[in-house]
Amino acid sequence: MQVINVLKKADKPVFSLEITPPEKGKSIQGIFDTIDMFKEFKPHFINVTYHQQKVVYTEKKGIIKKIPKRKNVGTVGICSAIKHKYGIETVPHLICGGFNKYDTEDALIDLNFLGMENLLILRGDPRPEEKEFIPEKEGYKYASQLVKQVSDMNQGKYLEELNNGHPTHFCIGVAGYPEKHWEAPNMEQDLLNLKNKVDQGADYVITQMCFKVNKFKEFVKKARDIGITVPIIPGIKPFTIRLSPERKPAKFPE
Ligand SMILES: Cc1cc2nc3c(=O)[nH]c(=O)nc-3n(C[C@H](O)[C@H](O)[C@H](O)COP(=O)(O)OP(=O)(O)OC[C@H]3O[C@@H](n4cnc5c(N)ncnc54)[C@H](O)[C@@H]3O)c2cc1C
Repeated sequence: MQVINVLKKADKPVFSLEITPPEKGKSIQGIFDTIDMFKEFKPHFINVTYHQQKVVYTEKKGIIKKIPKRKNVGTVGICSAIKHKYGIETVPHLICGGFNKYDTEDALIDLNFLGMENLLILRGDPRPEEKEFIPEKEGYKYASQLVKQVSDMNQGKYLEELNNGHPTHFCIGVAGYPEKHWEAPNMEQDLLNLKNKVDQGADYVITQMCFKVNKFKEFVKKARDIGITVPIIPGIKPFTIRLSPERKPAKFPE
């Protein structure tokens, strides 16, 4: 089910989980074990993050080799596995980084054929070796542009003109920042950029982890004031340890 419909139908609070694919070479079992722990709480959907590859250079006998490395892989496979094993809706993250618009279109076709109805659309962070985000040639600099591509496909508009292009039905989530995105010059501009993502077709916003309720409430108010009317979901990271008065980790009682 599309996340937007989950939210519309909910008569009590909805909660979801976000998981990161295991490190390359590790099994998916760790993900299943985590879901087994949480499934009694009936998460309404599970997000799975996507990680851009980084590039490392090695030199051997004067020859420099460029080696692409990706630490956490398998977003789409994990989404599909969770859907089939647990029947829980999944939300793969799709980023601009590392994709040109043609790669993106192919990925969207695969996701659609796999029965994915939800996407969280992001720009992605700069590669660790880069100071600022560098888009691919024919790729996107901002998430809003990727949102537009997905919205177009939802209307049957593909990159090349097709007769009767099959419309996809992706529900689109985007990221919001109650404490401002680190690159934005100020909150007002960041919110206008968020509004642009919604205007391009985002169905809801999910926020960066936020530890202060007041910050979240202020953010929602400012968003509503500039005409962002879609649902805004707070991103929360529960504490797993607490600090003792000496600021040493102390375990929560079971
Ligand atoms: C819930 C959540 C999940 C995430 N999951 C992942 C993940 O799976 N993988 C990953 O790599 N990263 C993930 N991220 C991190 C995210 O990719 C980074 O925060 C990234 O730096 C920005 O992504 P964005 O989609 O918000 O970008 P954008 O919306 O494109 O914004 C990026 C910056 O550009 C500015 N901006 C936007 N449009 C314009 C414009 N037209 N002109 C000038 N400036 C503009 C914005 O104000 C902002 O400062 C996640 C973040 C959140 C909140």
